[in-house]
Amino acid sequence: MEIAVISGKGGTGKSSISAAFATLQKEVVLADCDVDAANLYLLFNPVCEEEQIVISGQKAVINQDKCIACGECIDYCRFDAIIKKDDKVSIVETFCDGCLLCSRICPQDAIDIIDEDKSRIYAGSFKNGKMVYGRLAPGEENTGKIVSKVREKAKQIAKEFGIKTIIIDGPPGIGCSAISAIIGVDSVVVVTEPTLSGLHDLKRTLEITTSSNLQTSVIINKCDINPEMSSKIEAYCNQKHIEVIGKLPFEPLVVEAMVKCQSITDFAPDAEISKLIGNIYSKIRATT
Ligand code: SF4
Ligand code: SF4
Repeated sequence: MEIAVISGKGGTGKSSISAAFATLQKEVVLADCDVDAANLYLLFNPVCEEEQIVISGQKAVINQDKCIACGECIDYCRFDAIIKKDDKVSIVETFCDGCLLCSRICPQDAIDIIDEDKSRIYAGSFKNGKMVYGRLAPGEENTGKIVSKVREKAKQIAKEFGIKTIIIDGPPGIGCSAISAIIGVDSVVVVTEPTLSGLHDLKRTLEITTSSNLQTSVIINKCDINPEMSSKIEAYCNQKHIEVIGKLPFEPLVVEAMVKCQSITDFAPDAEISKLIGNIYSKIRATT
């Protein structure tokens, strides 16, 4: 069973809730698909057992021994990635989209296409099972591809070790990486907060999950900081027939737990907030 925790925007407390779920679930594969800001490994300190290179895309590189600085490629690059300075033509790596066009038109065959191979996937063990997380190298793109690879690896490990539950901490937003994190899962939990932007992003997120026919529920985090907006969110979810599976109050202990590199349910198992998260997780399990 795959349970994905996502949010339409960053800063909603999504990762804290994913971490708490992973602590509550004995025998789990935790897939940290928030690859732009993977941080759950800091909390759970897994013993790394495997490192995989991910080819996240391709980039063009000019072979200066062959280049005659004619500048033809500059006109063709619609990403403005090729520049000429002091009679030397070069490519700004971070702007290059890897479209290959320059390498095709260069009359000197002076442009090589190389793999972007600095991104990585790691797999290892932590106290509740196994953990897989990705790291997107600076300047490399295709987050969606790395997310898919993390999920693929998590599934492979779950099968190999007979682990029945995979918890996915998805990336924030509604881009292709978020979609890669939820396609085909058994349950999507959308974490939102009671702000206007929270509601706006929630609506966009729910459009995707419902149009993909995914079983979806919503957690309103820090619900007490704006009760009026919390009610609006709840009313919107009711209207869309989407269950608000739990409402969590703002709790400074959650921040304290993060600072101490622990999930809230590990840090303060008897605190009210941990019990509320425990109830939410039990409901998700019961309905999935
Ligand atoms: S088209 Fe080829 S030879 Fe001309 S500047 Fe570009 S890389 Fe150099
Ligand atoms: S591969 Fe495409 S984006 Fe990159 S430098 Fe060449 S033309 Fe520009």
